[in-house]
Amino acid sequence: MTVRRLTHHIDGVPVEGAADARTAPVFDPATGAETARVPLASAAEVDAAVRAAAAAFPAWRDTPLARRAEVMFRFRELLVAHRDDVAAAITSEHGKVLSDAAGEVQRGIENVEFACGIPQLLKGGMSEQVASGVDVHGLLQPLGVVAGITPFNFPAMVPMWMFPNAIACGNTFVLKPSEKDPSASLLLADLLGRAGLPEGVFNVVHGDKEAVDALLTHPVVQAVSFVGSTPIARYIYATGTEHGKRVQALGGAKNHMVVLPDADLGMAADAAVSAAYGSAGERCMAISVVVAVGEIADPLVGEIVARAEKVRIGPGTDPDAEMGPLVTREHRDKVASYLPAAEADGATLALDGRDASFDGAGFFLGVSVLDHVRTDMSCYTDEIFGPVLSVVRVDSYEDAMQLLEACPFGNGTAIFTRDGGAARRFAREVPVGMVGVNVPIPVPVAAYSFGGWKDSLFGDSHAYGPEGVHFYTRSKVVTTRWPDPATSSVDLGFPQNR
Ligand code: NAD
Repeated sequence: MTVRRLTHHIDGVPVEGAADARTAPVFDPATGAETARVPLASAAEVDAAVRAAAAAFPAWRDTPLARRAEVMFRFRELLVAHRDDVAAAITSEHGKVLSDAAGEVQRGIENVEFACGIPQLLKGGMSEQVASGVDVHGLLQPLGVVAGITPFNFPAMVPMWMFPNAIACGNTFVLKPSEKDPSASLLLADLLGRAGLPEGVFNVVHGDKEAVDALLTHPVVQAVSFVGSTPIARYIYATGTEHGKRVQALGGAKNHMVVLPDADLGMAADAAVSAAYGSAGERCMAISVVVAVGEIADPLVGEIVARAEKVRIGPGTDPDAEMGPLVTREHRDKVASYLPAAEADGATLALDGRDASFDGAGFFLGVSVLDHVRTDMSCYTDEIFGPVLSVVRVDSYEDAMQLLEACPFGNGTAIFTRDGGAARRFAREVPVGMVGVNVPIPVPVAAYSFGGWKDSLFGDSHAYGPEGVHFYTRSKVVTTRWPDPATSSVDLGFPQNR
């Protein structure tokens, strides 16, 4: 099998990595085979992308809003037409099942649709007659060159949380996608070009820490959007802001689903299983902890295990598969290592994913349920990012809330109950950025913004939606005084001139 050599995308064209560039392997997680090599950009290659973006900025900034919106509309149509191609690229390098990959593209398309409304979104405010003869109006102007650094788990959607709004606002963009599944970003670059986006407005450089550091310290880059794990998010925020950049850095998660004793048992169990094992648990909004309150714990664990045993695992291209492999062999092995550790700590392995057997060398792991988990166990404290669901049993709503208050992450959470008052109180009290009521994965639609609290977000702007537009623009206020035409020395035809 031939191993493809991937390129960067700079100034509208594919650009080979430098002859002496470091490269990294890209795998098909379903087979374990290396399918491509991705170049890892040096600081000089990052600089070339930033220069291309900087050169494209003046003309793009001055491009009329209607024309920018037109490009977004065309991009949206092309994405719909090529949804399956992008989904196939995602599945071939990430491993998630095709239906899930298509869903990822759809959530990205929603953000492009939001950006199509840019003429409306960039309307500034206006105050008439703030003083005698004086008016004030506000403008939202683009920043210049902005960068996006994205994780492996949503190689199309997370970039589309960023660049549609950034570009529609008049900025030019350099994307540094995850080196684990880089191909989807190149398809997006191609579709943007076909949509009529001028060369240099959207660029892709592949790479690792070296490329990221070059973006974080580049004097021309004005802002950095990051999505990834918490330790790297913290580093990106500290380094980027130290170098004078606007930074939003979304980090990791440990999402708790609280199930009150009055919850609809079947609904809660269905939700826990789909939210824990969808995309092999490699979602920042995955449910990784079920908090079972009171007497619902025994029946709930029973219903979850009964459903989890039936999750069909196979290659993402198999239409019958509900869950694919993990992204790499190393990640699969790390996820599996939490199971014996949890057992040694005293948790009960109600379902052991290592018991599942798979043909071939793919990075597969079965799904696991850990019951009687305590908060001092590594399976509770760490973001496992795999198909492992922990169940913590507590006596009361207050106990559940204490867990959420003590948790360093605050990305997503959900409550399952039939009691509207309890749900309302939970939504008001919980220190988490995105809350679901009988909804396990409450990812906001594109008209709202996405972001967690605590160690799940560094910076003050959430991603996409109105806060995305806010992040990618700076405001300017213009105060204007015009002399009263009636006092003009030239006869303008006003009564007092005569
Ligand atoms: P990661 O932090 O390892 O990598 C993210 C990006 O940072 C990649 O582009 C990578 O190349 C780069 N990077 C990695 N190590 C670096 C370093 N030392 N210095 C500079 N850059 C570095 O994350 P991942 O494994 O690709 O993605 C999974 C993580 O992302 C999980 O923690 C998940 O919760 C998180 N995530 C969060 C959200 C959110 O919205 N909060 C969304 C998706 C994923």
